[in-house]
Amino acid sequence: MIASLQGPGRQTMSIQFHDTLQGRKVPFEPLIEGEVTMYLCGPTVYNYAHIGNARPAVVFDLLARLLRRSYRLTFARNITDVDDKINAASIESGKPIDEITARYIKAYNDDMGALGVSPPDIEPRATEHIGEMITMIEKLVLKGFAYEAEGHVLFDVSSNTDYGSLSKRDLREMIAGARVEVAPYKKAAHDFVLWKPSTPELPGWDSPWGRGRPGWHIECSAMAEKHLGETIDIHAGGRDLVFPHHENEMAQSCCAHDGAPFARYWLHNGFLSMDQTKMSKSLGNVLLVHDLIKTIPGEVIRLALLGAHYKQPLDWSAETIEAARRMLDRLYGAVQGIEVSAAARAAAEVPQDLIAALEDDLNSPKAMAAFFSLAKELNKATDDDVRETLAAQMYASGELMGLLGNDPDEWFAGHVEGDLSSDEIEVLIEKRNVAKAERDFEAADAIRNQLSDAGVSIQDGRDGTSWRRS
Ligand code: AMP
Ligand code: ZN
Repeated sequence: MIASLQGPGRQTMSIQFHDTLQGRKVPFEPLIEGEVTMYLCGPTVYNYAHIGNARPAVVFDLLARLLRRSYRLTFARNITDVDDKINAASIESGKPIDEITARYIKAYNDDMGALGVSPPDIEPRATEHIGEMITMIEKLVLKGFAYEAEGHVLFDVSSNTDYGSLSKRDLREMIAGARVEVAPYKKAAHDFVLWKPSTPELPGWDSPWGRGRPGWHIECSAMAEKHLGETIDIHAGGRDLVFPHHENEMAQSCCAHDGAPFARYWLHNGFLSMDQTKMSKSLGNVLLVHDLIKTIPGEVIRLALLGAHYKQPLDWSAETIEAARRMLDRLYGAVQGIEVSAAARAAAEVPQDLIAALEDDLNSPKAMAAFFSLAKELNKATDDDVRETLAAQMYASGELMGLLGNDPDEWFAGHVEGDLSSDEIEVLIEKRNVAKAERDFEAADAIRNQLSDAGVSIQDGRDGTSWRRS
């Protein structure tokens, strides 16, 4: 049976996803009727999340909101708090690992919260699941899928005939293309680490293979098994995780579970880029959410992230943000000044075309188009009761999309956290022009700095002063 939504008065609709493993769009059918399990690979906590990292958090938060309408959802998003990049950050800063991870876990949750991302049901931490990881590795060794060598335990890729099926890689080609230099303890170049030894100054746990720490991939396999079971419904993450991370997770879990499928549906978001270059910490071209939210309302950033279909690339620019801001102005403008009673809110339904768009592989741009149609209908309506009903539908749609959470008057007054309204910017520029005319350059510079701190850059020209949000 295809998953269906049969609420009162609703048409039956089916959810479809593009599944990376099958390479096509397929109807969604959870393992257990009425229940869904979803796992999203979460952050490695050694610095602030950039706006590219926020994309999976936001798009799969939207998916969670959609699924919760019709299913009992258990959504897990892990925290990777043992990793060589964390160790390096600790050595570089001279701060203990615990202090670094605690700081960035909090920052991640605060930053994502500012973008309207609801906390997942479970937020498992790798360091709290070392026992489960060791048990899974032991199972893999016992069943002949992994081997121990010089304090390491490695997954024997040649033992898994399905290896490469998720990322569509041919193992023989991989072997042929492998670099000649291979770590001496490995049987083959593409065998990957399940467990590795730790030196005394590095984090480590006792294990049957000596004191050591887990590889990254086994963390997710063990946490998914513990909290969601052997077979999960949806596994999500960024496109860069397909290989090797998800390919390796799938190999470990399927082999540990005697071939039981690991994830029924694999969903991967496309990259966020800036000037057509992938945003990544290693390239250094990152915009941190932590900084952006100081000057741009979280809803603007959220909407900008939902502005492209999640599978498509998304190029981030000042225009992306301005366009999202204008869209929100239109939505808030439609509901401004309309009193909506609690009863009207409780009775409000989200329009079918908006839901249908989301059910079609989470088509957020199409869902936003439906949202705007509703706003247009509301703008045209003259009857007060009709206007209240439509405004209530706007708020119900906003709740589903994670938007329209502010009071419209506050929104336009620019009192939404971290933002200067366009009117306020114009007033400040006018004040600065007056100060300049009076040759009070100190005051003029102070205003320029105030605008700059709020993310607004100004340019004096022959036709006056122009401004833009950066
Ligand atoms: P990381 O902390 O690098 O492991 O990344 C956390 C999440 O962000 C993963 O799901 C990545 O796939 C995703 N991610 C990283 N960079 C980008 C990007 N530029 N665009 C979209 N997703 C990204
Ligand atoms: Zn993972």
